[in-house]
Amino acid sequence: MRTPTVAVISLGGTISCGPGDDGSALVPRTDAADVLSTDTARVRSVRWSLADSSEITFDELVRLAREIRRQVVDGADAVVVTQGTDTLEETAYALSLLRPLDRPVVCTAAMRAPTAPGSDAAANLGAAIAAALEPDLAEATAGAVVVMNDEIHSAKWVQKVHTQRVDAFASVGPGRLGVLYEGSPRVLRRDPAPRLPALVDRDTGRNVRVAVLPALLDQDTALIDAVARAGYDGLILEGLGGGHVSGAVAHALGDLAREIPVVYASRTRAGAVLERTYGSPGAELDLIGRGCVASGELPALKARVLLTMLLRSGYGRGDAETLLRHEADARVVVR
Ligand code: ASP
Repeated sequence: MRTPTVAVISLGGTISCGPGDDGSALVPRTDAADVLSTDTARVRSVRWSLADSSEITFDELVRLAREIRRQVVDGADAVVVTQGTDTLEETAYALSLLRPLDRPVVCTAAMRAPTAPGSDAAANLGAAIAAALEPDLAEATAGAVVVMNDEIHSAKWVQKVHTQRVDAFASVGPGRLGVLYEGSPRVLRRDPAPRLPALVDRDTGRNVRVAVLPALLDQDTALIDAVARAGYDGLILEGLGGGHVSGAVAHALGDLAREIPVVYASRTRAGAVLERTYGSPGAELDLIGRGCVASGELPALKARVLLTMLLRSGYGRGDAETLLRHEADARVVVR
């Protein structure tokens, strides 16, 4: 049987870390592919960068999506991207929306460096390669997935939920897309195909900046008032509970929504925001009446990635808001 080729594109992060030159604190220094020797696939190691995931930009992700496509044109059967865990939930979702392939891009990382006792680096990379080659997964989703700790998460729902543990990632909301047993992926459900076209083909390279601010107890409006002046193209407001703010904050958001898209999410980061229950000043009906848009079940970090990618792709405000609503509403299909 032919041995499949998997391109492992390495962006840095803990999975690539070793002790620095003085032997102490960890810094990215090796390609992720170096942590694993496998005969299930021919691994094509591609060094993209040796950096922390805090350094990744949207421009870079568009270039990465094009590189992923190039790897497949050059004969790779599947592509795995490795990076730091800190922004993994955002980058994976951006790759989902860019959708360079007609099969999922698999993203992975490590919570413990390859040199640390009990490192998850090799295990996560091995699981990611197995998932990337799994036909059932390609059938279950067209989006990117995150493979960590023997679990497969849809990029749309995965969140980093712990600072240190190896089970730091969870699919908040619909639950895991799959698991790995004895190294083999088992797909548990399907995710509907994104209703958007592959945004990698539409990207304009425009520098779009979308801010995220939390709603707070006893909040003043100075930062909200400053958002448009500071040149932002949109705001995601992490509302209280079901998506609420005070009356004064709602007023400021309404003024802002006359200039740029304002999306309300929930700082609980779980569950859909409300759209038709409460009528007090600052509650969801007030926000909607002032031109704010509900983020559905998407937490603020995902909504920011989505709005940024839509505006970069040349959609005007009205279309971007409509598409955001559609994508936020897309339901999970259970097998
Ligand atoms: N600081 C690292 C990062 O690049 C943490 C990690 O990889 O887990 O995100």
